[in-house]
Amino acid sequence: MTTIAFIGLGNMGGPMAANLVAAGHTVRGFDVVPAALEHAAESGVIVAEDAAAAVSGSDMVITMLQSGAQVLAVTRTLLAGATPGTLFVDSSTIDVADAIAARDLVVAAGFRGMDAPVSGGVGGAAAGTLTFMVGAEPADFEAALPILEVMGGRVVHCGGSGAGQAAKICNNMILGVSMIAVSEAFVLGEKLGLSNEALFEVASAASGQCWALTTNCPVPGPVPTSPANRDYQPGFSGALMAKDLGLALAALEQTGTAAELGPLAARIYRRFADEGGAARDFSGIVTVIRENSDSKNSERVTA
Ligand code: NAD
Repeated sequence: MTTIAFIGLGNMGGPMAANLVAAGHTVRGFDVVPAALEHAAESGVIVAEDAAAAVSGSDMVITMLQSGAQVLAVTRTLLAGATPGTLFVDSSTIDVADAIAARDLVVAAGFRGMDAPVSGGVGGAAAGTLTFMVGAEPADFEAALPILEVMGGRVVHCGGSGAGQAAKICNNMILGVSMIAVSEAFVLGEKLGLSNEALFEVASAASGQCWALTTNCPVPGPVPTSPANRDYQPGFSGALMAKDLGLALAALEQTGTAAELGPLAARIYRRFADEGGAARDFSGIVTVIRENSDSKNSERVTA
């Protein structure tokens, strides 16, 4: 069994660490928020005084933090006290450049490192069914695989350092753009007198078919389990979609990619998050499109 230091025991890290404990591993956890530590202790995580204490004597370090700045800052504090051969796995969603920088830091200090961001949300973290997207050397991937499989249902080796974050960012750019497209189509359909059910019945079995439509349908009714049926409780929050599209935007700029829809989606979700949608499911964008459409119509009628 492996001794694992788990740094960042929030909405995702907490249940991921709990699954490692349940599988028989020793998990030493740390978070700067006391409530997260208390919660983790209830699931059998050994609470450490600080991140360095969690890492001392561990074989593997998993970080599950909010930003690239946090990952780099925390990683720097861990290098002095880590055991030779330690494998650093960062599962946070961060910039590709930050992921490569974090791995370079640990390799320069004589350790091994990889990026392994996830999709599947808090539900997937609790159920142990996350998808891991891994950027790593083949030997490091093999070494991490048995541990990642405890927390995930699917573990994909995407390539070398940074490739996991690249896959995550590209996937979520598809998701952000497609959710806006699906939402605009539903509002247009409503204005044309089409029922949501009729549009769903056609598009879900036609060329408009996509996850945003058939699993996370932004209007209530057609997919009873989608967040639209529970007043857009997430699910995947607007704040996280805005964050991920911000990372995509940075990557588009860094690589000089001639994308138009990705940057537009980033702007739309930044506004959504800033104007009340941060804690709502990202499919709530449909309500904004509907509201804006109504006000435009009434302006035109009254003008
Ligand atoms: P969260 O804010 O709930 O958890 C992050 C935790 O890191 C917090 O508890 C915070 O206190 C802790 N932290 C911050 N600085 C720290 C430090 N210096 N030392 C120790 N702990 C520190 O966020 P989350 O929802 O668990 O997401 C974690 C990561 O996973 C993010 O990068 C997010 O983008 C990504 N992600 C989240 C979801 C989701 O649905 N929540 C899905 C996929 C990926």
